[in-house]
Amino acid sequence: MKPTVIIIGRPNVGKSTLFNRLVGKKLALVDDQPGVTRDRRMGDAVIAGLEFTIVDTAGWEDEDAATLPGRMRKQTEVSLEGADAALFVIDARAGLTPLDEEIARWLRTQEIPVIAVANKAEGRAGDAGLYEAFSLGFGEPVALSAEHGEGVADLFDALYPII
Ligand code: GDP
Ligand code: MG
Repeated sequence: MKPTVIIIGRPNVGKSTLFNRLVGKKLALVDDQPGVTRDRRMGDAVIAGLEFTIVDTAGWEDEDAATLPGRMRKQTEVSLEGADAALFVIDARAGLTPLDEEIARWLRTQEIPVIAVANKAEGRAGDAGLYEAFSLGFGEPVALSAEHGEGVADLFDALYPII
């Protein structure tokens, strides 16, 4: 069976764009408005011959997630069950937010390998955010531009040893 990789992160960091990039088709809706991905979507991903099932999630994108109790409920609803690795996506241009920190804290309690992905890292605008992503405690973050297709080789290097 192919390994499963789940994409996690707060709204608008580019999860669905990354999903589409890895699947090679526009299966997931991408929008400037948070909350467009209503449920989880699965697709067949391949990077340089490494095949895996990729899952796009939207657990933190409901109105419910605006309150602390809502977010806590979401954390238990966003199941990582069956996944072999998680891609924790942050917006390198925006830098880390309190919600990123909260999701990171929750991810650290889960028994799953986590790769921090600093998306929107095209150009130099993501440098500070990439540096901040080191502090998440998931090792060296992968700098990526899901929109422009940059950094996918580095994502391969991070994923290959763990899935
Ligand atoms: P999601 O809510 O995390 O699924 O985020 P989306 O994939 O829907 O993307 C949110 C917004 O970020 C959209 O306007 C995307 O075009 C934009 N976006 C996604 N990836 C990148 C990227 O690599 N660079 C830049 N500059 N914008 C991106
Ligand atoms: Mg989405």
